[in-house]
Amino acid sequence: MQIKLDASLKAYNTFGLNVTAKYLAKVHSTDEIKQILNSPEAKDIAIIPLGGGSNVLLTKNLDALVVLNKIEGITLEKEDDEYYYVTAGSGVGWHEFVLHCIHKGWGGVENLSLIPGSVGAAPMQNIGAYGVELKDVFWFAEAMELSTQLTLKFKKDDCHFGYRTSIFKTRLKNQTIITKVGFKLNKEHKVNTNYGAINDELVRMGINDPSISDISQAVIKIRQSKLPDPAKIGNSGSFFKNPLVDMVLFEELKSRYPEIPSYQVDDEKVKVPAGWLIESAGWKGTTVGNRYGVHENQALVLVNYGGATGEDIYELSELIIDDIIAKYGIHLEREVNIY
Ligand SMILES: Cc1cc2nc3c(=O)[nH]c(=O)nc-3n(C[C@H](O)[C@H](O)[C@H](O)COP(=O)(O)OP(=O)(O)OC[C@H]3O[C@@H](n4cnc5c(N)ncnc54)[C@H](O)[C@@H]3O)c2cc1C
Repeated sequence: MQIKLDASLKAYNTFGLNVTAKYLAKVHSTDEIKQILNSPEAKDIAIIPLGGGSNVLLTKNLDALVVLNKIEGITLEKEDDEYYYVTAGSGVGWHEFVLHCIHKGWGGVENLSLIPGSVGAAPMQNIGAYGVELKDVFWFAEAMELSTQLTLKFKKDDCHFGYRTSIFKTRLKNQTIITKVGFKLNKEHKVNTNYGAINDELVRMGINDPSISDISQAVIKIRQSKLPDPAKIGNSGSFFKNPLVDMVLFEELKSRYPEIPSYQVDDEKVKVPAGWLIESAGWKGTTVGNRYGVHENQALVLVNYGGATGEDIYELSELIIDDIIAKYGIHLEREVNIY
């Protein structure tokens, strides 16, 4: 186990931003995390866990010890009539985990195919896509509390999962390192095709009675056609959350913009797609000096074409937030974690 000094994080964030960490260490086990935490380098310095770096915007050199999670392993712990109870090390790649589940016939995560990043970060923002969220398959998480080095166990109710949030993204941010995640996966596959795009893709694929593998392949095709590949263009997926809008404001907006899309959440709130707001405000495809901008096909995705700093992208996000407030009276919240 090695602790690197002034290490570049360029290869460890999907925006491809070239910032450094004061210290960087890769960990493969909870014991290695403890060794790192007990090292002289860990004294009086912030600890930042990092997985695939696909949901961070690094705006400066980090005066911190960055702990890069490489804890591996996928285990079937037990099963009953309905479920497989499976655990995965937090450093396992998320999509690798999904493919493993599909291969084994463990159902429930197929709609979450091709989401970048690690298993350990998945509870952090309750990852979600195509009608499924992590919380739907969550069993428990184990996390090491940094201040005590105790391993804490979090059941579903302890996690306060919400739309792209959990206790790990709020009260416990940078206080714990998730080391293991447990999943409850279906024996009887209940495929979820509620999202129209999946059905359309299945029709194109000529499939009537889809398996979990078919769903995964449909989701992969849709994602590859819609989202920029971070290996080619730096980005962190959706930069903003879809805002919850008060019904009174929404009715007023609807009279001005009859085409505004929305999803009813309850009697008082609707969710409005942030991508629609940004696109209709004219930001889609905007570039700044050909270095960075708003993706040409997906207004929710901010991109680094190669020459941006994290500050540049942060400032662009500020301009977008201000513009959306001015035009629609809606405050967009960033989904990405800013450092
Ligand atoms: C092209 C693209 C598409 C995406 N699509 C989706 C999508 O459909 N749905 C979705 O929900 N997200 C999506 N994302 C966002 C991202 O993939 C997820 O949020 C993913 O879970 C981040 O994992 P990571 O390992 O890369 O986290 P990182 O970026 O490394 O970390 C994110 C945050 O979690 C913390 N963290 C990381 N690991 C741990 C740990 N073990 N313990 C405690 N804290 C930790 C970090 O400190 C940081 O604050 C997309 C991103 C990209 C680039």
